[in-house]
Amino acid sequence: MKISEYIKKVQNKEIDIVSYTKEVLEKIKKLNEEYDCLIEISEELALKQAEKISKDPKGKLAGVFVSVKDSICVKDVNSTGGSRILEGYKPPFNATAVQNCVDEGAIIIGKTSQDEFGFGAFSVNVGVEYKIPKNPIDKTRATGGSSGGAACITALADFPHISLGESTGGSIVNPGSFCGVLALCPTYGRVSRYGLIDYGNSLDKVGPIGKTAEDVAIGMETIASYDKKDSTSIDKEIPNYLEKLNSNINGMKIGLIKESLDSGTDKNVKDVFNKQIEFLKSKGAVVEEVSLKKAIDYGIAAYYVIGTSEASTNLAKYCGMRYGKEDELKGTFNEYFTNVRSKYLGDEAKRRIMLGTFTRTSGYRDAYYIKAMKIRTLIIDEYKKAFEKFDVLISPTTPMIAPRFDEIEKMTPLQHYMADVLTVGPNLAGLPHINIPIETETMPVGFMVTGNHFD
Ligand code: GLN
Repeated sequence: MKISEYIKKVQNKEIDIVSYTKEVLEKIKKLNEEYDCLIEISEELALKQAEKISKDPKGKLAGVFVSVKDSICVKDVNSTGGSRILEGYKPPFNATAVQNCVDEGAIIIGKTSQDEFGFGAFSVNVGVEYKIPKNPIDKTRATGGSSGGAACITALADFPHISLGESTGGSIVNPGSFCGVLALCPTYGRVSRYGLIDYGNSLDKVGPIGKTAEDVAIGMETIASYDKKDSTSIDKEIPNYLEKLNSNINGMKIGLIKESLDSGTDKNVKDVFNKQIEFLKSKGAVVEEVSLKKAIDYGIAAYYVIGTSEASTNLAKYCGMRYGKEDELKGTFNEYFTNVRSKYLGDEAKRRIMLGTFTRTSGYRDAYYIKAMKIRTLIIDEYKKAFEKFDVLISPTTPMIAPRFDEIEKMTPLQHYMADVLTVGPNLAGLPHINIPIETETMPVGFMVTGNHFD
C-alpha cells in the first residue's frame, strides 16, 4: 500500500492503529535482534502516540512509523548520538524535526544505530560497547554510515515508515546507497538543526530516508520548516514536494560529474550507473559531462579539516561535569576529564578530537583550518558555475557497493575517509542531494542527484 493511501485509511479510522502499532513493535524487536539497527525501541512512547491518534487521527503523517537517528533528540527517550559518553541522557524536549512529525500524527518507534556522533561511513565506528548494524541484504556487509541503522530499518520495514537521518559529509545518502533506499539530504538551513546533537554545525543537516519517492516527499514536507530556535534556519516558502513528483525530465539538463567515474570508482558501480544514464536519455534528458575537479580532488581534505575542527570544539563540552557521563570524582579536573573521555569515547572520536584540535590551534590554524575554508569557497563557486548550465548534477553516490566487515577491518583511516569522496562536495556547499537506489542481482548501487540550493 502506498503511504498516502495508508495515511488516508488511518485518518478515516479504517485501521485499528493501536493493535497495528503493537504488531509493528513486535516485528521491529525481531528485526533488531537480527540486524542491530536500533539502539532503543521507544515502545511506551509509540503506544501512547498510537492511543492519541486512534482518538484523533489527524495530520500529514497520521499513523506513519518514524525512526530517528540517535543524534536527534526525542523527548524522554535516550538520545546519545551513539556515544557512551551521553548514556542515560533523556532530552526534556523534541528536536524540531521530530516535533514536526509528532504534530502531524507520526508514531516514533525508536532511535537508530550510527557511527558515534556521526564519525564514519560504515557505521562500524559505534560508541563503546554499542552494536554494529548489519546490511539488510547481506549481513556480512556494512550498512553504510553514519546513519546506517536508519537506512537498514527502512529497507527492512514492511510497514509505512520513514526514518530521520543526519548528514555532515554524506551520512544520509551513503547508507541509502549501501542499503538500497531513497535518502534525501536537503539544502543546509531547510530543516531545523534544533535538537540535533552537533557534529559540525556548518555542515549538519537532518533529512528523510524512505523506501519510495513518495515516502521521502511526505517526510520532507513534514520536517522542512523555518525555526527561530536555529539561527541558520532559512525562512523560505516550502514547496509541495509531493506535487513535484509528477514532473517530467524531458529537456532537463543533466551534468554528469566527469571525475566521479575515474579510476577510484569500482567498475561494477560504473557499469550499473552508466546504464541508468541511457534510461535518462531515453526519457528526453540531455546529459553532458561537467568537471568538478576541485570538489573531487580537494573535497575530502577540506571536509576532514573543517569537520574535525568543528567536531573537536563541539565535543569539548563532554567532560563529565557540565555534560556527559559522570564518573568517580578523584584527582584534578584534568585527570577527571581525561579519565571520563578515555573511558567513554571511542577510538574514532578520539582521533577526530586530536586532528581537529591540531588544525585550529594557533600556529596551524592558517595553514589548515583557514586554508580549508578557502577551498570550501572555491568548491561552492565551482558548483555555482555548474548550475549556470545544468539543472542537476549526477554521479554514483559512493565509489563502491557496501563493503564486507572483513574488508573494512583492513582499511586505513584514510581509505575509510575516501568512501566520502563523492558526497563531501554537496555537503560542503550545502546543496541538496538524494540517493536513488539501483537494484542489481547482488548489492544495490547508489545513483546520486545533486540540485542547486532549495531545488
Ligand atoms: N563519513 C563522513 C565522516 O565520517 C560523513 C559522516 C556524516 O555525514 N555524519 O565525517
